[in-house]
Amino acid sequence: MIKNIDTIISKSEFNFKEILYLLKTEGEERRKLFQKADEIKSANVGNKVYFRGLIEYSNICSKDCYYCGIRKSNKNVIRYRLAAEEVLDAVKYAYEQNFASIVLQGGEVDSPKFTEEIESLLVKIMQITNGEIGITLSLGEQDKETLRRWKNAGAKRYLLRIETSNTYLYSKIHPVDSKHLFENRIKSLEMLRECGYQVGSGVMVGLPFQTIEDLANDLIFLRDFDIDMVGLGPYIEHDQTPLYEFRDSLWDKNTRFDLSLKMIAILRIMMKDINIAATTAMQSIDKIGREKALKVGANIIMPNLTPLKYRENYLLYEDKPCIDEEADECKNCLEARIKFSGNQIGYGEHGDSLHFKRRTGII
Ligand code: SAH
Ligand code: SF4
Repeated sequence: MIKNIDTIISKSEFNFKEILYLLKTEGEERRKLFQKADEIKSANVGNKVYFRGLIEYSNICSKDCYYCGIRKSNKNVIRYRLAAEEVLDAVKYAYEQNFASIVLQGGEVDSPKFTEEIESLLVKIMQITNGEIGITLSLGEQDKETLRRWKNAGAKRYLLRIETSNTYLYSKIHPVDSKHLFENRIKSLEMLRECGYQVGSGVMVGLPFQTIEDLANDLIFLRDFDIDMVGLGPYIEHDQTPLYEFRDSLWDKNTRFDLSLKMIAILRIMMKDINIAATTAMQSIDKIGREKALKVGANIIMPNLTPLKYRENYLLYEDKPCIDEEADECKNCLEARIKFSGNQIGYGEHGDSLHFKRRTGII
């Protein structure tokens, strides 16, 4: 028999059934879950939000993930790669504004030329910021040598979402070929850890064919993998992708949003000292979606610093927000929003994952 909500949230270890129960909470029980997550956040990572200036480096991708708007086979996308100066300008902005960290994200390309290009970019980024800026990469699966070189050149965190921990579902949302194997995803996460990165992962919530049981298993996966950082958010359909065909069978957007919030809250209680992002996809469904995420356990926000003229070409999904706001407007808007959510901005602080620091014995 399932215990009542107070008994469950007073524990920090949940079993599958308890997670399922929490994912299904409504009304007063849901409110209690969110309140507990907020308390755990304050007590363990504090009410600070850390900025990671997001630079969408390139939409050139060698993969064909069935959910993603910039997949290789989408011929409607105008492909771009930022020039080094454009990246460095964005980095300078982040540095001058005391953001303390940036994320370099883009399509997956595996070639010696790409490895070198990113490596030299990393070296330049470190040079112009006196080695002070914290760099996160999110450039897909790469071989170990590449990951090592990028780490040595200055990157310290890496985001690679597992997308779903259900291997069958994974094979339904990706082509079944050697480039899109679940096993490789896991191997990549392991290599990232071996190379000494702070390792980030996450999932999409509300994929076609996904069940609430899958979501409970996703949380168990993130816990058992002992992940340092999490970025998760609702799946949002894109009309130029194969999964669009299943749009009528999806949970409605509010359900996907609500489940994403609950996933964040449950994760905060399960993994007290990790970093959790309030993702842009949350905001594309609810105008104050990121603030809501900050209220239930998230502590990272990624203001978009990609030069405006490229943003409309980096549409992973429909209704992506903030594609017409200059970095300054975006910063001002976020400042107000974060204050409103009862948090402060950790200007000038890296805000590294405490979980990583404990795991590796730094603290
Ligand atoms: N190419 C890299 C980084 C860019 S994609 C990679 O795949 O890791 C970053 C993330 O965007 C993906 O991990 C995926 O979870 C998310 N994403 C892609 N398409 C999406 C969609 N339709 N809805 C919501 N999130 C999506
Ligand atoms: Fe490429 Fe990443 Fe999109 Fe997959 S999710 S198609 S790897 S950009």
